[in-house]
Amino acid sequence: MTVAINRKIIRIILNVLFFIFLTVLTQIGGIVFLVSLLATKMWKINLRFKAIIIFIVLYLIATFSIVPFIASIFGREKVIHSEKIKPTNYATVLLNRNYVAPQLNRLLKETQRELDGTNITIRYLDANFPFFNNFPLLPHLSHNDGKKIDISLIYETKEGIITDKQKSISGYGVFEKPNKNEINQTENCIKRGYFQYDYPKYLTFGEINKNLKFSLKGTKKLVTSILKSKYLGKIFIEPHLKKRMKLRDNRIRFHGCKAVRHDDHIHIQLK
Ligand SMILES: [Zn+2]
Repeated sequence: MTVAINRKIIRIILNVLFFIFLTVLTQIGGIVFLVSLLATKMWKINLRFKAIIIFIVLYLIATFSIVPFIASIFGREKVIHSEKIKPTNYATVLLNRNYVAPQLNRLLKETQRELDGTNITIRYLDANFPFFNNFPLLPHLSHNDGKKIDISLIYETKEGIITDKQKSISGYGVFEKPNKNEINQTENCIKRGYFQYDYPKYLTFGEINKNLKFSLKGTKKLVTSILKSKYLGKIFIEPHLKKRMKLRDNRIRFHGCKAVRHDDHIHIQLK
């Protein structure tokens, strides 16, 4: 009897933890999980991995057929893909982390126009969730209003040919570190006790394309193209990269030690 009760309690706790995990990761995953638990109970068919299959099917239907419509009520839409605008990792789309306010799509489109005739591609990373202001897309606390998106740095081959490939699987966590004579903001922040500043290093999910190097000319062209958009509010990039690219626009800011380092990606936000 007690064993049965204990089992039930453990199952409930696991379900609650899984609900929280899916909600933090995808916003809608927790709700879909609850619906799938109900559907699994009601559907009396004997099938191997029934619960998992039901969850995946419901999640995909919600992600691709339902969420985009409801998101428009919240003033958000998916990042519009094109030849020059693509996610760094398709998981961003699968996890519903690709929603923005319409002005952000306009900003990306204007940037794309500026990049015409170059081989620079806008590879985007985490944007925002589809619903609700102030619902943060962790680990980015500020990505909570549709106005923020992270963009990958540009890399090139040894021969100086620009590529749209990245150096980590997630797109985060492989840093273009400061040279000896450059400002080392990471060191400064860690010295002041902000240990989280360096944490993106745990988010690579594996390093790839190790032979590629940071493209100064490519990244600079990308940033100056973004700066031309009237929708732009601010850009965050690590101070040593701003200096190395000789960029002086005061919309390129330092994000502060309470954030995380930005020498693995560029953060942009609307006005
Ligand atoms: Zn960001």
